[in-house]
Amino acid sequence: MPEPRIPFNWPYMTGKELYYIAESHFNGRLAGDGPFTSRCHKWLEARTGCSKALLTHSCTAALEMAALLMDVQPGDEIIMPSYTFVSTANAFVLRGGVPVFVDIRADTLNMDERLIEAAITPRTRGIAPVHYAGVACEMDTIMAIADRHGLKVVEDAAQGVMASYKGRALGAIGHLGAYSFHETKNVISGEGGALLVNDPEMAQRAEIIREKGTDRSRFFRGQVDKYTWQEPGSSFLPGELIAAFLWAQLEEADRITEQRLACWDRYHQMLAPLETEGLLRRPVMPEGLQHNAHMYYVILSPQVDRQQVLDEFKRNDIGAVFHYVPLHSSPGGQRYGRAHGSLGVTDSHSERLIRLPLWLGLDTSQQERVVATLRSAARSAQS
Ligand SMILES: *Cc1c(COP(=O)(O)O)cnc(C)c1O
Repeated sequence: MPEPRIPFNWPYMTGKELYYIAESHFNGRLAGDGPFTSRCHKWLEARTGCSKALLTHSCTAALEMAALLMDVQPGDEIIMPSYTFVSTANAFVLRGGVPVFVDIRADTLNMDERLIEAAITPRTRGIAPVHYAGVACEMDTIMAIADRHGLKVVEDAAQGVMASYKGRALGAIGHLGAYSFHETKNVISGEGGALLVNDPEMAQRAEIIREKGTDRSRFFRGQVDKYTWQEPGSSFLPGELIAAFLWAQLEEADRITEQRLACWDRYHQMLAPLETEGLLRRPVMPEGLQHNAHMYYVILSPQVDRQQVLDEFKRNDIGAVFHYVPLHSSPGGQRYGRAHGSLGVTDSHSERLIRLPLWLGLDTSQQERVVATLRSAARSAQS
């Protein structure tokens, strides 16, 4: 009999989500910015130290808000990695901005901070570091560059909830930060996200942009006697049912992170011999940061054929996947962005990376099966 499938992802639910949704239903509170949204905002502000947290429909929406807040104009350049999800670039391209792609570091696969300064031109407006796999970018260096050149920093911390850099929460270090609560992330609400506003000067405008360009939030707090159109904005706020779901998750965020880290650590131990054998390398964690076990990936050695390994996972009914097609080599990236310098590390590593299943409830025997499959597949896929 074939062994049961091991899915790539399995969304974890705490058990309280429906209870809180029922509470919103019972109280007739369905539109956004109700009591659950407010609880989520306070939790995010307390846990990250940002000046203002605002729930959004998605991390994508939070990044779009960031581009509006920065007043990105056609032709303005934003420096970012090519090795990222499309939303990092799209948010700025929607305003006419130009993503300028720099290479990543070979250890963390994060944007290489040593390449940023050379990519700055008179049109540069901002830097968008992406904390890949919940592992922090070198934020001290990035913030110092931004200060020297008067640039804004927008952290794409979609994968960085509950992770930190030198004791500071990811997403709360740059001028703005964006979180994702998508089903595939650590803390979830199906679709969902948050904008963290760290520069207090942008906090009031952020509220306005999120509420269709009006000062409705101030009106609800009794600070103005009517609300009016102030500037271009949109509807970026989720309804209360999503916030109720998210609240059940945030309450358990410490436990979720702990259990993911335990699962991550087991992989890391089990895979050490494969690294010694020269089949792959495991993720690298620089000093001074705490990751959140968002992802376990391996970088196959150059002589190992990735497609053969992926085929073998598929034959064994194991959900292992690869990503990303680098943005500079995608049709959208070629049309709307440009590369600065060689993107050799991006190209070579994106072609050798495999993500392993990692979710709450994945047990040791399942992980052993994943590792055994990877070992035999990688051995036989060597050229
Ligand atoms: C998941 C992800 C996003 C998009 O998040 P959504 O909430 O689905 O919009 C953006 N950037 C990165 C790096 C991501 O991993």
